[in-house]
Amino acid sequence: MDNLAIFAAIMATVDNSVFQAIISHAKEYGFVFPSSEIYDGLSAVYDYGPWGVELKKNIRDYWWNEMTRMHDNIVGIDAAIFMHPTTWKASGHVDNFSDPMIDNKDSKKRYRVDHLIEAHAEKLNAEGKTQDAEALIAAMDALLAKEDFAGLKQLIEDNKMTCSVSETCNWTDVRQFNLMFSTEFGSTVSSDDEDNKVYLRPETAQGIFVNFLNVQKTARMKIPFGIAQVGKAFRNEIVARQFIFRMREFEQMEMQFFIRPGSQKQWYEYWKAERMKWHQALGIPAAKYRFHDHVKLAHYADAAVDIEYEFPIGWKEVEGIHSRTDFDLGNHQKYSGKKMQYFDNDLNEEGKPIGNYVPYVIETSIGLDRMFLLVLSHAYAEEKWTKEDGKEDSRVVLKIPPKVAPIKLAVLPLLKKDGLPEIARELMKECRDDFYCFYEEKDTIGKRYRRMDALGTPFCVTIDHQTKEDNTVTIRYRDTMTQERIPLGRVRETVLSKIK
Ligand code: ATP
Repeated sequence: MDNLAIFAAIMATVDNSVFQAIISHAKEYGFVFPSSEIYDGLSAVYDYGPWGVELKKNIRDYWWNEMTRMHDNIVGIDAAIFMHPTTWKASGHVDNFSDPMIDNKDSKKRYRVDHLIEAHAEKLNAEGKTQDAEALIAAMDALLAKEDFAGLKQLIEDNKMTCSVSETCNWTDVRQFNLMFSTEFGSTVSSDDEDNKVYLRPETAQGIFVNFLNVQKTARMKIPFGIAQVGKAFRNEIVARQFIFRMREFEQMEMQFFIRPGSQKQWYEYWKAERMKWHQALGIPAAKYRFHDHVKLAHYADAAVDIEYEFPIGWKEVEGIHSRTDFDLGNHQKYSGKKMQYFDNDLNEEGKPIGNYVPYVIETSIGLDRMFLLVLSHAYAEEKWTKEDGKEDSRVVLKIPPKVAPIKLAVLPLLKKDGLPEIARELMKECRDDFYCFYEEKDTIGKRYRRMDALGTPFCVTIDHQTKEDNTVTIRYRDTMTQERIPLGRVRETVLSKIK
């Protein structure tokens, strides 16, 4: 396929206008902001705003509770972001976690291949050749996905891309570039001192592996058991143009499940099913999810599958389930010289204890930010309808599953007077201990409903003059926009029953 054909094929599966609308909505309504925006942002780094941070926390809690409360044999940890540098030798990240780069032979200046090509695409854009620019980016993405380094070099040469210093097109072959961010400990160390180099962790998993024995002993865990962790991870990603889908600083929710060697197939299937159940229990349609088996396995895995979701930008990975064998514990044992073994008291067929072994591991690993984007993608809807009086009406609504919605209940006094705010404040007091409530008395009730729709608030309660007479309120349901009157005293339990 030529460049334009590749681009057309990619665009056919992608609804960029919806994706762009979600990005704008996320910013306008305080979910996600570009990092340090006043300085024009920082590529592939984002900040979460007031409602984003609530949604993110609710998704995190939904995962954490499922893992640690619903399974007797899973406990949590919170390991540091910095780890001993040898960790990353043992894990294979120093040698294997890389992306392509290229050097100009005349200036000796080094470029990340994607940066060089993107800069050229920008130039084409500036010249008004937007289709060529898009085709170039699509061709680059396709070659990167195939790890076709010769093809990438060819693309650079065919497009006559030049170095900004030498202005020549005299390039080396494309080589690998490590995705880990590094820094140094201490103040007097020179930057090329390899011994003092520390990395920002590229995954949270290794913090679990190095603590395997500490946790097993102190929490008195018996195999099979799991260790769960949520935390930041950092990757110097090379394709970083997809909002919070691919970030340079992101959050992972990972669980390593330690098992007897030989039982990995059974546990792999178990966790595949469990994780899919977790996703679908949120009420997101099963048809939007699929499994995608890895053909090319990572250096540590004997089986791996992605859970993919149909985002507006196409089917994409949201979670990985990996059968990691004894690769990590075995390598930490080798590099640290410390035993990473478990003594299994259970009896074998001969009636003797099974004894010592390095456990095998099944990993479930999901990106919190990616799950956040999944929820937004599922929730975002633009609706239009004709009212009874024949006029058109419309709204943008986030149909966020009530369980994870940032605000669960909006409490809206019809007027700012006549004792209505006081009743509303009383209701807030009654409910705010159980779930997030939002009080709003400005604007017409219709405008307030629309704003709550845009924030994904599943329930609005209006306090009016009838409330003073008969202690009832109007409750409005976000998804159907239907309203009914219920006793004031039943508001809390109604909301609680829907968010459990
Ligand atoms: P991808 O193929 O998309 O780069 P990966 O296979 O490298 O992802 P893993 O190393 O398996 O991802 O990480 C587990 C999960 O962490 C992914 O399923 C994804 O949800 C999340 N994740 C990985 N990289 C990023 C990133 N740069 N930004 C946001 N989330 C990420």
